[in-house]
Amino acid sequence: MNIGFVGLGIMGSAMAANLLKGSYRVTVWNRSAEKCRELAQQGAVIADSPRAAAESSDVVIAMMANPDAVRSVRDGSDGIIAGLASGKGLVDMSTVDAETSRESADLAQQKGALFLEAPVAGSRKPAEEATLTIMAAGDRELYDTVLPALEKMGRKIMFVGETGSAARMKLANNLVMAGMLTALCEGMALASKSGLDEAQLLDVLDSGAVSNPMFRLKGPQIAANGEFPVAFPLKHMQKDLRLALQLAESVGQPLFATAAINELFKAALAEGWGDLDFAAVGRTVRK
Ligand code: NAP
Repeated sequence: MNIGFVGLGIMGSAMAANLLKGSYRVTVWNRSAEKCRELAQQGAVIADSPRAAAESSDVVIAMMANPDAVRSVRDGSDGIIAGLASGKGLVDMSTVDAETSRESADLAQQKGALFLEAPVAGSRKPAEEATLTIMAAGDRELYDTVLPALEKMGRKIMFVGETGSAARMKLANNLVMAGMLTALCEGMALASKSGLDEAQLLDVLDSGAVSNPMFRLKGPQIAANGEFPVAFPLKHMQKDLRLALQLAESVGQPLFATAAINELFKAALAEGWGDLDFAAVGRTVRK
C-alpha cells in the first residue's frame, strides 16, 4: 500500500517517519517545504501538492492543525479530494469537529473513495515511539485496510463507529486533560503562594489516587515556570476546548468547568503563548 501523508507538524512528521520505518512507501506534502526535506532524507517522496500526494497513493493521511487547515489541504484544484478516485481512501487524523469530518466523508464519497477519521491521543513522545492511542470511525472497510499502517503509529487502536464518533471521543478526552492540567497549575500556584514546597506537593500527588504520567511530566516544568518543551501547542488545546464547547451546546450538555478553563486558555493565547506547550497556561494562573 502506498501512503500519502499531508501535514508534517510535531505529530505528522513523527508518524510519517514511523510509516517509513515500517517499510511503507510514503509520499509527503507540507505547507512549509523544509519539513518535507527532513522526511525525504528518511526515504519519503515529496509531492508538489496535496492533490499529487493523493494521486500517487492508495491511501492519503492528513494530520492538520485545525478544521481550517484541513479544508485548505482538502479542497480546491490542488486539494486531496481532487486527487482521490474510486478505490482510494482518505484518513484524517487531525483533531477536528464531527461536522468537518462528515464534510470530508461526503467529499471523498463523491469521488468514489472511502473515508476514515482517526484522531490520536498521546503527544510528541508517543508519536515518536509509535505508542499513540488511535480512535477511528467511518468506513469499516477502510479501517480494516489501513489497520496494519495504524499499528505502525499507535499501540491502542479502536474503531468507535460512524463518522463523527471518533472526533467527539477525542474532544471528550481532551477536555478531561485540560481540566487535569488546570487543576495541577492551580494546586501548584496555591502551594507556592502559601509558602509550601511545590516539589513536595508533586510528591504527595504522585503517591495518591491522582498520580498520572502527565503530572509527572508537566509538574516539574510548571514549577520551573520557565521553558516548556513544546509537545502539544497551547493554541491546539484551546481549539479543542472551543470545539468541545460547541459540541456540548449542540447536544445540550452544560460544561461548567470547561467553559471557565476555555477562558483561561484564551487569556494565555492573548498573552502570545499559543505556540508554547499547553503547560504554559500555568503562567496565566500565576499572573
Ligand atoms: P503542528 O505541529 O502545529 O502542525 C500543524 C500542521 O498543520 C503543520 O503541518 C502545518 O503546516 C499545518 N497547517 C496549519 N495551518 C495550515 C494551513 N492553513 N494550511 C496548510 N497547512 C496548515 O500540530 P501538531 O501538534 O502536529 O498537531 C496536529 C493535529 O494533531 C492537531 O489537530 C492537534 O490538535 C492534534 N494532536 C496534537 C497532539 C500533540 O501533542 N501535539 C496530540 C494529539 C493530537 P506548517 O508546517 O507549514 O505550519
